[in-house]
This record gives sequence, structure tokens and C-alpha cells, in this order.
Amino acid sequence: TDARTPLIAGNWKMNLDHQEAIHTVQKLAWALKDAKHDFSAVEVTVLAPFTDLRSVQTLVDADKLELTYGAQDVSQHVSGAYTGEISPVFLSKLGVTYVAIGHSERRQYHGEDDALVNAKSKAALAHGLIPIICVGEALEIRKAGEQVSYTLAQVDGALEGLSAEDAAKVVIAYEPVWAIGTGEVATPQDAQEVAGAIRARLAELYSAEVADAVRVLYGGSVKSSSIAELMKEQDVDGALVGGASLDPEEFAKIARFQ
Ligand code: PEP
Repeated sequence: TDARTPLIAGNWKMNLDHQEAIHTVQKLAWALKDAKHDFSAVEVTVLAPFTDLRSVQTLVDADKLELTYGAQDVSQHVSGAYTGEISPVFLSKLGVTYVAIGHSERRQYHGEDDALVNAKSKAALAHGLIPIICVGEALEIRKAGEQVSYTLAQVDGALEGLSAEDAAKVVIAYEPVWAIGTGEVATPQDAQEVAGAIRARLAELYSAEVADAVRVLYGGSVKSSSIAELMKEQDVDGALVGGASLDPEEFAKIARFQ
């Protein structure tokens, strides 16, 4: 973990309108300030609904917050006849740093597959956004003991055709589907098993340098009570936090691993 700055990312999902977003970011900024949060030691980001991004940008700029922000999805296209889609160019103009790609809820409810995750990741990178590529197995796959091979196939699909330079920039979030929103956090050992396998795959696909550079997050029912043990694992470089990121005090605690 040493060379990699840990990342704590809050996925708000479809919660918080633009006014609630302002309040939440203000409260989060205060909580982090109270805790004397060192952003060079642990990066903190919030992945907000599209309609919140302008408000979050205004607040972050006005108060010179070190907090970064991101989106929860992006189009694979740059512009044109794609009604309802959001271009990576639009996001980059709003000062967006990160974009979640292939979250399990998008795979499940919107039919997103590895090829689309790959195309969206390339589009994001081409416009200066950092993809947080989400992977992870459902319960039946874990019961069959196939979590590593299943998740690595998703990683392979997401990274297909990416240069080493681009691959070194991405963040990969290992989020077992059975742990998302269920209150059932993976054990640190389970998280490490797959996070370690993802890093080994990056070394195989690219190089040791790329494998060392990429941050691998764990996601799935992370709370302040579970983060410390997860962060002790060698290949867990942070967390993607859903439900608990809606509470600024709790999320700030997670950002200090306690
Ligand atoms: C998520 O949305 O990526 C997530 C991990 O949610 P939760 O923390 O609520 O399980």
C-alpha cells in the first residue's frame, strides 16, 4: 500500500438532491477539518448524482476544499444523438476527478456488460477522468468458490486494449454483490484474496509498475467499525462506501480508518 495513496470514495447512489448535496458536503468538510484530515495521506471523494455536480463544484471551489468529487456513470460517446446520456467532456468541464463505471447496480438494472465498461473506461480516460471500475461476484458464484476467476474475467474485460499508461491511472473497486447494501461486509481475508488476485493480474497483463500504481478498493457494507481491519490488508487501498457515505460524520470516520 505504501506507494499508493489510499482512497475513500463515497457512492451516494440516487440520494441527495442538489441542496442536500451542498449540506452534506459542508458537513463532511467540517468533520474532516475537525479531525485535521490529511488529504495527502488519504484521499476523500464523493460520487454524486449528475444533477448535484455543479453545486458540489461551486462549493469545493468557493471554500477551496481538498475534497474531490466524481460521477456515478458516464457515456462511452463524446456527443450526439444519445438522449439522456452524459458525456465525459461535460464531466471534465465540471471539475470531476472520478467516475464509477460498471457498478453492480448498473450491470444488474441497466444491462451493462464488460464491453460497455471497457468502452466507458476508455472514454473517461480520454477526457482526463479517472475510472473507478467496479467488479465483483454474486452470491452463487462465491458459493461455487469461483469469486477469483469470475472477478478477474471482469477485470480483463474492463481493461481490454488499454495502454499501460492508462491502466496505471485506473482505480478498481472489488465489490462482491452479496455485500453491497446488505450489511454483510466481506472479511478482510476475503477482500484481500480477490484484491491480491486483481493486483497479480495487473502485473501479468502489464507490469509490476502498473500493478503497484493501481489502487484496489474494497466495497460492500463498509462502516467505521469495519474499515480499520480491511485497511490492514496489503492489497486493499481504500474503500467504496455506499450507505455509510450519506452520513458525513460516519464517512469522515471511515476516512480516518476508525
Ligand atoms: C456501493 O454502492 O458501492 C456500496 C458498496 O454500497 P454499501 O456500502 O451501501 O454496501
